Amino acid sequence: MSFVILKDIWKKFGQVIAVREFNLEIKEGEFIVLVGPSGCGKTTTLRMVAGLEDITQGEIYIGNRLVNDLAPKDRDIAMVFQNYALYPHMNVYDNMAFGLKMKKVPKEEIKKRVEEAAKFLGIEHLLARKPKELSGGQRQRVALGRAIVREPKVFLMDEPLSNLDAKLRVQMRSELIKLQQKLGVTTLYVTHDQVEAMTMGHRIVVMKDGIIQQIDTPLGLYERPANLFVASFIGSPPMNFLNVSFEKEGGELKVKGRGFTFTLPQEIGERVETERKEAILGLRPEDITIDAKLIQSHPEWVYKIRAEVVEPLGGEGLVYFTFSDRQMVAKLSGSHLPKAGEDIALVFNLKRAYLFDKESEKAILKPQRKDRNGN
Ligand code: ATP
Repeated sequence: MSFVILKDIWKKFGQVIAVREFNLEIKEGEFIVLVGPSGCGKTTTLRMVAGLEDITQGEIYIGNRLVNDLAPKDRDIAMVFQNYALYPHMNVYDNMAFGLKMKKVPKEEIKKRVEEAAKFLGIEHLLARKPKELSGGQRQRVALGRAIVREPKVFLMDEPLSNLDAKLRVQMRSELIKLQQKLGVTTLYVTHDQVEAMTMGHRIVVMKDGIIQQIDTPLGLYERPANLFVASFIGSPPMNFLNVSFEKEGGELKVKGRGFTFTLPQEIGERVETERKEAILGLRPEDITIDAKLIQSHPEWVYKIRAEVVEPLGGEGLVYFTFSDRQMVAKLSGSHLPKAGEDIALVFNLKRAYLFDKESEKAILKPQRKDRNGN
């Protein structure tokens, strides 16, 4: 059963429609990530669930209760913000205890909860310190501790890791995942970082211009993007795109573009759902390879390119090249990288091609594709 329900939510700020027709059902214990570019309405949505922003239209339920008219403190939620919002004059203990004191929780109970949470987060030794005497990561743990002690039904988190340096962010990311698993608290998490979304969310809600583009699991989004925006937003580096036109030749479906013709594999060709003659072909960087088997089985998918920029990343590397007047990128194994300026034969793995409508930008392959784990 759904634990948090957002039903046909709209938010207008004067003439600006920040969120429109937002529908989402969150299961108990689920970790949902809202992701999208700046200004797409993520924070506004979170703030409406928190009760910090009025809803223009729609209904929000938490644990079967309509909360539209409930004050934030009565919604059984706890928020963690980007700036931590710790009280500078209070020590860690008092910062964590503050909300409970306000709720008139007995002193002994407060002590028990704060000490338990501090132990859980590995900050027991910091309880007497003031926020300015803490590192960024430690402050973030205190902010989390303050949320945990309230034993809320829902965690609402708004870019909680974005003030941390890259290394700490990765570490705190996995700590947060473990924490959420252990506590099993339903979580709604906002980020603009697709890597964070992909690694943390059970399901991800991709937003753009106040509108939900797709709701799916991380792999589902990656393998079956509903439109061009999701395809380009999820995955790093982003998917490559080429303008193509379709041509049927003796039962085979060919896609043609400036300087190339690809014959689509039968299983892809049969799934193309369009009456139009033109489309956008998408290929992920990891699907442009030097795979010897594929080169042998599909020599017609091999093209010689010049590596313009090569970025070795260790185990793998990125090769940037121009193809059909487009800047494209291939992700190759680190031991097979060419040098910049070198010519190299790459094979375009069209078994993994995506196709999008040029006008609506929606995917035009029937979604039969299984993800890489066979789901
Ligand atoms: P970011 O990642 O930059 O925080 P976001 O996806 O969280 O962006 P929101 O902060 O939810 O986006 O903003 C959504 C839209 O609503 C934006 O166009 C923003 O300018 C507008 N907006 C947000 N708050 C207000 C407000 N109080 N008054 C008027 N417009 C607002």
